[in-house]
Amino acid sequence: MPDPSTAPQADTSSDHTIDPAMLHPAAVDVTRQLQAAGYEALLVGGCVRDLLLGMAPKDYDVATDATPEQVARVFRRARIIGRRFRIVHVRAGREVIEVTTFRRAPDDEGGQTEQGRILADNEWGDLDSDALRRDFTVNALYYDPLTNEGIDHVDGLVDLENRVLRVIGDPRQRFAEDPVRMVRAVRFMAKLGFDLAPETAAALAECRNLLAGVPPARLFDEVLKLFHYGHGMRAAELLQAHGMLSLLFPVLAPWLEDDATVPAIVIRALENTDARVNEGKAVISPFLFAALLWPPVRERFDALRSSGRPAIEALHRASDHVVAEECAAVAVPRRVSSVTREIWELEHRLADRRPRAVKGLLENRRFRAAYDFMMLRNAVGERDAELCQWWTRIQEASEAQVVEMIATLPGGGGRRRSRRPRKRKNPAQ
Ligand code: ATP
Ligand code: MG
Repeated sequence: MPDPSTAPQADTSSDHTIDPAMLHPAAVDVTRQLQAAGYEALLVGGCVRDLLLGMAPKDYDVATDATPEQVARVFRRARIIGRRFRIVHVRAGREVIEVTTFRRAPDDEGGQTEQGRILADNEWGDLDSDALRRDFTVNALYYDPLTNEGIDHVDGLVDLENRVLRVIGDPRQRFAEDPVRMVRAVRFMAKLGFDLAPETAAALAECRNLLAGVPPARLFDEVLKLFHYGHGMRAAELLQAHGMLSLLFPVLAPWLEDDATVPAIVIRALENTDARVNEGKAVISPFLFAALLWPPVRERFDALRSSGRPAIEALHRASDHVVAEECAAVAVPRRVSSVTREIWELEHRLADRRPRAVKGLLENRRFRAAYDFMMLRNAVGERDAELCQWWTRIQEASEAQVVEMIATLPGGGGRRRSRRPRKRKNPAQ
């Protein structure tokens, strides 16, 4: 960390170009209430950065000299969360504002691993020290919405103008303290279209392997943020270009060696996800993981099938293996991975088109995701067009047409319903 005394002087001029009308009233309100209670309180981080860039902030962060307990006393609807990094969630209407106490760089003793990774970051400080412990200069801009004044201790405005992402302080040390900052760097590059400052880029190349030492639980949220906000494609390409995609997805490593491009099914899924997000449609993370983890699942599945395993068993085994291996790097919660598995299995059953299973499949609550996954496999040449068209048509078909479509399937009993249960042909495919 640089010595705060050598940091550039605070720029308290008010020539920021934040239009107060763009601010969310809840964020202004929380700031006002803290100030009214006698504390310092300012907006900081992504919201200030995004507002200065004319973008709508994803969420609002408030920095204050009040401790979490003091913050909690100011608001009725406040909850202290986190251990490694304690903050307060203040509810204001439908908005949740994150209120963070000014911090300083943690002491060297006790709070770090051998690689210099910080284990806890709860030492209170003042605004000066708080600016210096933030990750990137453009993320360390403070703004008082009540006076319309900005504070820039780290030349963040210059970097913002030049569209440069620069680690505050010594980038090697800061990446070692918290390797997740490297994932964040990629996220901000993808989101903002910024370039890395040269020293930041060099440090990232040197430090990226430290990502392997990050507790998997911390990476899940960051990975979601990479892919769920409309710039997932770009994020994946940047991760690959910086040699980080295989660190986050070790199960994909064989597909990503030697400057290989990201597997087509992953690209397709991310393109679809980005398009949906940008149209304001919902996206679900299990679908994304279904695509991201598919190349290794498919490979294992094929191998197990060739050694004579029945299809569903092979799929379960392949999924178990790949999900477990991925969870050693990024802890995908079971609520997500269980749906990912359902998507794989259901998609397999769609391709099977067992006549008597069709109606049940159409009513399955994961049908849509499985159908979309099949379309994805079709787009990369893994499923044929006739199959996909059939499932597209049947969704719009009348009751009578559905019966007809099922009847004309192989084993569907022809035009008339058969009474006798049929022996399964082709039991496993
Ligand atoms: P967005 O909300 O658009 O994703 P953000 O910059 O606000 O981006 P948050 O995760 O909300 O990102 O974090 C808020 C602020 O907290 C950041 O702008 C940065 O100043 C600081 N911060 C977050 N994570 C770290 C970290 N790992 N190391 C240092 N500072 C961090
Ligand atoms: Mg934020």
